[in-house]
Amino acid sequence: MPHLLKTIAKIGYHQLKNLNRFIQKQPVMPPSFNSATLDEDDVALAKLWLNQKGKWESTEELEQYHRMFATWNGSAHAYSFMGGRVALSAIIHAMKLGPGDEAILPGYTCVVVPNAFKFAGIKTVYSDIELDTYGLDAAQIEEKITPQTKVVLLHHLYGLVCRDYLEIIKIARKHNLYVIEDCAHSTGAEFNGRKVGNLGDAAFYSSEQSKVFNTIQGGVAVTNNPEIAQGLKSYYEQAPLPDNHKIENLLHNVMLNYYRFKHPQRWWRGDLALLLNGNKIIVSTTEEELNGRKPSYYGEKLPAPLAQIGLNQLKKIDAYNLRRRQTSLKWDAWCAANGYQKPHIVAGSTPIFLRYPVLVQPEKKKNIQWGVKDVGIEIGVWFVSHRHPAPGIIENCENSAIAVQQCINFPGLLDT
Ligand SMILES: *Cc1c(COP(=O)(O)O)cnc(C)c1O
Repeated sequence: MPHLLKTIAKIGYHQLKNLNRFIQKQPVMPPSFNSATLDEDDVALAKLWLNQKGKWESTEELEQYHRMFATWNGSAHAYSFMGGRVALSAIIHAMKLGPGDEAILPGYTCVVVPNAFKFAGIKTVYSDIELDTYGLDAAQIEEKITPQTKVVLLHHLYGLVCRDYLEIIKIARKHNLYVIEDCAHSTGAEFNGRKVGNLGDAAFYSSEQSKVFNTIQGGVAVTNNPEIAQGLKSYYEQAPLPDNHKIENLLHNVMLNYYRFKHPQRWWRGDLALLLNGNKIIVSTTEEELNGRKPSYYGEKLPAPLAQIGLNQLKKIDAYNLRRRQTSLKWDAWCAANGYQKPHIVAGSTPIFLRYPVLVQPEKKKNIQWGVKDVGIEIGVWFVSHRHPAPGIIENCENSAIAVQQCINFPGLLDT
């Protein structure tokens, strides 16, 4: 009952907001940052699998998914898990990293990234980013290296290929460090004709509901190194599946998200879905994880129904990424017209613009109402902190602090 009351209050709020926007001649359904690649065919698959409980432990779809992802990505090996964060934990396991080791990470990241290292007992050392592509600044890495340093994690944020990609790898090689690539925002982005994630020792991708492709929750780890592949396989083989209740909720979230965030009449279909199934909504990052604690269920692998949806998403990913690049031209023009700097595209790279990042004055990030009013879209605010979205400062990461205060994002996909 309290849940139903909360849902009704939420719906009332949505409809008042819709009415207000309608009266103000603002868009009632601005493009969503969530689940932008879910379509009717994904919903049909979710419905199909809800009626095939007996097949939920099937492994065939997983083998197919791993093969298809590896082939599409140009990687030798791929394994899927319940989150990019778990894929990262699998990589850490495969690299045999543990207590006493240190990892260098960007001071502008998602909290689940440092968590994966902490859960393995590894010390995290933060290094600042550059403000061209929000990647690690190669010039600041070497001073962070100690005899305990074993690995550098670089990331390609927002769908951009990071500016110092080659330089970071060169430094890591010189000091005999592993390189992990966080490609959670950049599935499909390319550098010199090759997908990102193939120049380091291992990489992970995310199919969480706000990312480039979507299985509600999910992630893939890849490597071209046979030894690391063996370690990924051993982590994968011991990983449990989510329980049936969770799988059922995940499948319901495919439908919920489609109706709430993507359906052409989502202004009311979303609320109907909430009313029917709002109690099944899944959050990606729990309070526990925000506080740096490991949830009891952490470490699961992807079940067959989600692998099947992942396969369907992969069939569409190139077309969606092409659309994201086309959308970026619109934001390029907006930047030119309004006196803002466009994102930096590294020579030889093909970005995919999960989100289009722009640095604005801090007031414009604090109060984002101008988005719907002036541009007809809701403004994204990734990231709102150094370890997004957990609060807290990281010292000596000045560019990261600027990005926290000033980086806003435009959606990569608009309604067609
Ligand atoms: C989302 C995200 C992750 C983690 O991916 P999940 O699939 O949510 O576990 C890692 N790094 C970055 C930069 C992200 O945005």
